[in-house]
Amino acid sequence: MIFAATILTLYPEMFPGPLGTSLAGRALGEGRWSCEPVQIRDYTTDKHRSVDDTPAGGGAGMVLRADVLAAALDAQAPGRPVLAMTPRGKPLTQARVRDLAAGPGVTILCGRFEGFDERLFEGRDIEQVSIGDYILSGGEMGALVLLDACIRLLPGVMGAASSGDDESFESGLLEYPQYTRPPEWEGRMIPQVLRSGDHARIAAWRKAQAETDTRLRRPDLWERHEGARVGPPSGAQRTRKTT
Ligand code: SAH
Repeated sequence: MIFAATILTLYPEMFPGPLGTSLAGRALGEGRWSCEPVQIRDYTTDKHRSVDDTPAGGGAGMVLRADVLAAALDAQAPGRPVLAMTPRGKPLTQARVRDLAAGPGVTILCGRFEGFDERLFEGRDIEQVSIGDYILSGGEMGALVLLDACIRLLPGVMGAASSGDDESFESGLLEYPQYTRPPEWEGRMIPQVLRSGDHARIAAWRKAQAETDTRLRRPDLWERHEGARVGPPSGAQRTRKTT
């Protein structure tokens, strides 16, 4: 089974874009995933081929029409999760990426302008996904981010089979800091423990670093990690925070 990505967009020429290079590009060439951009405009029915219209209730910009997007979506192969890129969506996580990468692929809707007519999400089974708390000019970059995160996890894509396991977020923590040769650079040494060859000490050092860095840099992640580790005292409050 190969991971099949269909991207509904007004800019199909943006795909595979950067995913045609490096790890993802090689994997594409090897047939480990497929990339099918679909032009939303091909599913319009009026003579102006309009995909958008002015916002109901007034305001700036244009809104993508539900009827056009639904027609484009309904023409795609069924059986894969359908995701829409929107800052109103649930923030993408490594856990969700892992689940998606283990599945048959994704169909991704890329917004533009002011976004989608909300009725699209009532009329179709669509998961709304955000890639972070900032505004992009379109969903295409978000789709590329999501696909890149999935593709690197596909079997045979990453060089060392285990190199995904230690990454930031996989354990709920940031990854420990990394070093490489030369052993001394501008008077700075690689931490002695990493040159000791003592694997148990190295593992303990890395764990401690990951915990300290997560606590200081990402108190939000740390709180969730501690909550999961200690276990909620009554269940209710922590569960609510993490979901
Ligand atoms: N007016 C909208 C933003 C529209 S930005 C709002 O404030 O919610 C135009 C398109 O870019 C969106 O429809 C979406 O597809 C994409 N986009 C922008 N920011 C995004 C983000 N953080 N995550 C995912 N998609 C985003």
